[in-house]
Amino acid sequence: MGFRRMGCHDLLWIVRLFFLMQLVHVVFSWGKHGHYAVCKIAEGYLTKDATATVKELLPDYANGELASVCSWPDDIKWYYRWYWTSPLHYVDTPSFKCNYNYGRDCYDSSGRRNNCVTGAIFNYTKQLFSAYQGYNPNLKSHYMADVHQPLHVGFTGDLGGSILKVRWYRKKTNLHHVWDTLIIDTAVKTFYGSDLSTMVRAIQRNITDAWSSDISSWNYCRHHKRVCPNQYAAESVRLHVTLRIRMLNQEAS
Ligand SMILES: [Zn+2]
Repeated sequence: MGFRRMGCHDLLWIVRLFFLMQLVHVVFSWGKHGHYAVCKIAEGYLTKDATATVKELLPDYANGELASVCSWPDDIKWYYRWYWTSPLHYVDTPSFKCNYNYGRDCYDSSGRRNNCVTGAIFNYTKQLFSAYQGYNPNLKSHYMADVHQPLHVGFTGDLGGSILKVRWYRKKTNLHHVWDTLIIDTAVKTFYGSDLSTMVRAIQRNITDAWSSDISSWNYCRHHKRVCPNQYAAESVRLHVTLRIRMLNQEAS
């Protein structure tokens, strides 16, 4: 189906897809596997028309699968042409301030306002409802996952947890890498026979069973807004604070 035939209802379903991306943030963080799993689950909630539209917006090499290109923004941010996207993966809050404030926190290292993960989500939502010819659905899908990662919304001095040295089993690493990659990779290997699809199905079953009563709250944005990344960032920074307090307590004991 063409864009012109897509109604507001279908656009809302695409927005809901992005809301549904928060479903698994409690358990997983976002390396390649994490981004794939989040998008795969979210794709299952699209209407038929919204699915067709997302497919039309995707590049050919995605073969019609949004999940297959959801980690793309992480792959490209290292290339000169895409450097400008680097700040769009996170938002820093003043160290030990323990809260998030869009006006105070959403700017990049050059001081450009709205250049942060929540600003990117607002921006790509606006684009979807205005000039979505050429719209790239994997960008917003990616940032929606990132904003739920407590190391992507945290204290400026922590540099996303990359300076916080920890051990993951026998491996020396940093906290960011643990959350982005190691937790999920270990879970896939240990609990799901090294099969990501099995893990995705297990999460889908949890959504329809154990977590079903929570779904309405996941779908809810205050003040009838189409998207509410500030809400998600506030949740993430609370998780970040919890992690930091635990680490400080461990260091002290
Ligand atoms: Zn990212």
